[in-house]
Amino acid sequence: MTFPGYRRALRILARHIPRHRSQQLVGLAVLTVASTLAELLSISAAFPFLAVIAEPERLYDLPAAEPLIAFLGAEGPQDLIAPLCLLFAAAVIMAGALRLTLIWTQSRLSHLIGIDLAVEIFYRTLYQPYSVHAARNSSRTISVIMGKSMRLVTGFMLPLFQILAAATLMVLAMGTLLLFVPGVALSLVGGIAAVYGLTALVLLRPIAHNGTTIAREMPRTMQALQEGLGGIRDVLLDGSQPLHVARFARSVRLQRLATADNVVMGMAPRYVVETIGIVLIVIVAYVLVTGEGRLQTALPVLGAVALAAQRLLPVAQQAYNAWTQIRGAQAVIGECLSYLEQPTRAGDTGLPPPPLPFERDIRLEGVSLSYASSERPALDAVDLVIERGTRIGIVGPTGSGKSTLADVLMGLIVPDAGQMRVDATPIDDVTRRAWQRRIAHVPQAIFLTDASLAENIAFSEEPDRIDRARLARAVAQAQLGTTVAELPQGLETVVGERGVRLSGGQRQRIAIARALYREADVIVFDEATSALDTRTETRVMEAIAGLDRNLTLIMIAHRLTTLRDCDRILRIEAGRIVATGTPEEMLDIDPH
Ligand code: ADP
Ligand code: MG
Repeated sequence: MTFPGYRRALRILARHIPRHRSQQLVGLAVLTVASTLAELLSISAAFPFLAVIAEPERLYDLPAAEPLIAFLGAEGPQDLIAPLCLLFAAAVIMAGALRLTLIWTQSRLSHLIGIDLAVEIFYRTLYQPYSVHAARNSSRTISVIMGKSMRLVTGFMLPLFQILAAATLMVLAMGTLLLFVPGVALSLVGGIAAVYGLTALVLLRPIAHNGTTIAREMPRTMQALQEGLGGIRDVLLDGSQPLHVARFARSVRLQRLATADNVVMGMAPRYVVETIGIVLIVIVAYVLVTGEGRLQTALPVLGAVALAAQRLLPVAQQAYNAWTQIRGAQAVIGECLSYLEQPTRAGDTGLPPPPLPFERDIRLEGVSLSYASSERPALDAVDLVIERGTRIGIVGPTGSGKSTLADVLMGLIVPDAGQMRVDATPIDDVTRRAWQRRIAHVPQAIFLTDASLAENIAFSEEPDRIDRARLARAVAQAQLGTTVAELPQGLETVVGERGVRLSGGQRQRIAIARALYREADVIVFDEATSALDTRTETRVMEAIAGLDRNLTLIMIAHRLTTLRDCDRILRIEAGRIVATGTPEEMLDIDPH
């Protein structure tokens, strides 16, 4: 998504920020204005205060001061000095306290909102269907959640607040100036507005362009790191360190330099305005001194201008800088908003439904599926019946559609045409979650976390809620018993990131144990043993063969010989089932 405009962006944010945070934001806006006012008052009250302290008797000439004098209970001018000093000090302390409160509130609140948004994006991302994840690079998602989402706050919401504060001050200062020196005020504001406006116009494109560069390079930086570290074996063997370093250096350089340039472009006009201002004052002074006018008459006007400029410039600068922040963040804002707008269906979130009844069979009827990126269908009008409790083997060349078929059976991808039914119940958006509760998956390479063996087997369970009896059964059935017994801390042994301390056969048995722990009725093995050597494969296949006969097993393999224990074998080619039979029959046709 590109930046959808301020109003739409705010509306989207309002939808995803919890209600109580929105209320806190309103509070922050009030606090911002109040603190701005207090600051303005305490600064502008300094001169009158000093004047009164110097000559307190002058207060008696002011009719407006009468209630104040009565309130303080002063008998003479000297009695006024102490209470006035106290009053002024109190006002200044108040203003300072307000300012500190504002900064504290602003920082806490913006980070709280940043947390809300990051969590919301992660939540929504995890509920996206498999097809969305398959089409997307996870580095990009990580960069959105970890880095970019905070820019919604620091690059959009906070700058809006700064503009609000600046506008408040600007209006007040302008109002005061207009009362006293209208001509000067108008030319001053006109001049400042002209310089900032022109700068904004000129820098509009480069700032936005840099913003796009930052948005694009952030995930690339992350990807370069992940690929270098994730493929460390290959990196060490190939000696490809320079390649990965160069990739990282290129992206991080583009990203950081764009950031640096945007910082400069956000500050630049201040120095331009200041320079022009001082040069102008010099010129005016020169004209006044050498011309007919006298310096004495010109000085008060010049002083007023300089003072007003000194007040107005930082405000203009703050507003302009806030605007460049938003401009520079627009690309990132758009991207984050599209992640925030990822749809979730009511049926997906919330408590999982009870498992779908499965007594008889799974049926595929005319199932076809094409991936967006290829013209040839990955599945082409597949008809298939899998009876409960049978063991089905699927063989076929690489790219023939075996994994796609498995993904359809697991309800991970939705076919373009045709239907899947379980006991005659169609699998659709409503029934999918219930069906998936019956299924477990054993992939070619299991994803292990850097946690204990027990936690890896009970993958989706909090450590303290692991069912020990179920765990023990899963370990025994997956024939992991001896492995566990040999480990120093048994099931509590930490396996290490990516399970580097385990052999391939052990890892696949952990994958099987994980599937068994889920107590699924259907287990899909997608080339679960094809990365293993023949002997290890045979042993893992023995473990699978020994599983409960009530389980429905769907086993994808390269070699027919690994599927000898299946009840029925399907051969797939180019997305079609081209042959089916018992293992013996199939071996007769194609003895591989
Ligand atoms: P197999 O598991 O039999 O090797 P797959 O089911 O993985 O085959 O793939 C079948 C076809 O679909 C192949 O041509 C493959 O390139 C393509 N394919 C698989 N996954 C995707 C995807 N996520 N996006 C695009 N094409 C895909
Ligand atoms: Mg495959």
